Amino acid sequence: MSRNKRWRRPAAVAAAVLTGLAIGGGTASAAPGPGSDGAGDGYYPQDGNGGYDVADYNLTVGYDPATHQLDGVQVVTARAEQDLSSFNLDLSGLTVTSVKVNDLTAKFTRTGEHELVITPARTLSRGQKFTAEIAYNGVPKAINDPLLGANGWQYAASGGAFAAGEPKSATTWYPVNDTPRDKATFHLAVTVPDEWGVIANGREEGTTKTEAGTTHRWAESTPVVPYMTTVAIDKWEFHRSQLADGTPVVDAFAPGTSATTKAAEARLPEVLDFLSSKFGPYPVDAAGGIFLAEPIGFSLETLSRPIYSGRAGNLQTIVHENAHQWYGDSVAVQSWKDVCLNECFASYATWLWSEYNENQNLDDRYRSQVAQASDQFWAGKLYDMGPGNEFTSVYSKGPLALHALRHQIGEAAFGKVLKTWPTLHRNGNATLPEFQNYASVVSGQNLQGFFDTWFYGNTKPSAQYLYPGSLTPRT
Ligand SMILES: [Zn+2]
Repeated sequence: MSRNKRWRRPAAVAAAVLTGLAIGGGTASAAPGPGSDGAGDGYYPQDGNGGYDVADYNLTVGYDPATHQLDGVQVVTARAEQDLSSFNLDLSGLTVTSVKVNDLTAKFTRTGEHELVITPARTLSRGQKFTAEIAYNGVPKAINDPLLGANGWQYAASGGAFAAGEPKSATTWYPVNDTPRDKATFHLAVTVPDEWGVIANGREEGTTKTEAGTTHRWAESTPVVPYMTTVAIDKWEFHRSQLADGTPVVDAFAPGTSATTKAAEARLPEVLDFLSSKFGPYPVDAAGGIFLAEPIGFSLETLSRPIYSGRAGNLQTIVHENAHQWYGDSVAVQSWKDVCLNECFASYATWLWSEYNENQNLDDRYRSQVAQASDQFWAGKLYDMGPGNEFTSVYSKGPLALHALRHQIGEAAFGKVLKTWPTLHRNGNATLPEFQNYASVVSGQNLQGFFDTWFYGNTKPSAQYLYPGSLTPRT
């Protein structure tokens, strides 16, 4: 994600309430129990669920831009990780009309902010593969975030709609296990009136004419975190091409998109080649971008096809969001406190781009920013910054920390770490302490002091860590 401008968050941020206790599971001989109603994130304990692992979402949606009515059928294919008497999905608002598990009608209730509790007719055994089919409908509503504005399903002035948000988005338009820890493939069929176009993640699988309009099929075969899924409905101008290796590129430009933005996106193959040279092979099955007309407060690294605010169709943002395909998408956070693994790296990618393409001296850039940094700047944390504070210092202090790390461990080790980490954790999740450990192993240095001050601390680093190696202060 990249924010368009610095918005001040209201001072008080509620502390996370740690309530997501796992229920059930227990020993092998225990009776089947309910799956947990949370996935265990310390900041958002109710997001996601436990007791099963989703392999695929197969979502069929009909959407009428005139009435905002959405009719959906979600088929979740999953595997039980414990004997389950019931399990939860997450869904915000909307009306569930029926649920089947393994083709048998299941009971369901709605509880809390977004819990859909499903009780199958037959208990699920640990290890059992199962399907849950949920029919639902209604008018989707965005979740309001004080920092970022609307998250999730949003309406475009053109009459279209789109889904984008972090850390929450998917629950506003489909039932889901809403946690970065459960990645799955994502198949989407969207039926809209003929005059509307549809863009989503992954590869195009064709269109079919129906009585209700045209059905547009998209398939994402790279496992995707729920908030990285998207769909956008508008009167798009599509540009289709391929990367050198045949990977399909689909760009969708909202009516009115500037020639400058289109020219910037035309450089995507060059951007991805550059990023591959730094981060290793492109880890996703498709590429492209979704360029909204709406001036929303952020752009987002939705998988294979970032979605851009109407005010952010520039090359720096394109580099940032595509860097996330490695750092954030393919390798997702284990917990939200690890978000520096996404944002510090995507932000530093734009530094690397400037160094490579504009001959920018990054040491000078670093020294200049350090010279201007206030106490408040240093007080921002890059790890465990607290819920609601994830998208603040990671953009400003984050790239400085990585540039200092580059000097701390040297060019060769830093380059190796950047390039091999995404392959090591491809399609997985990771923590910042794991990254620290990896950088230590590759460099042969104990980096505890460095990480304590730069990543875990909230004060200005001492000269030893502020100016490591050849990064001497400006005199
Ligand atoms: Zn970002």
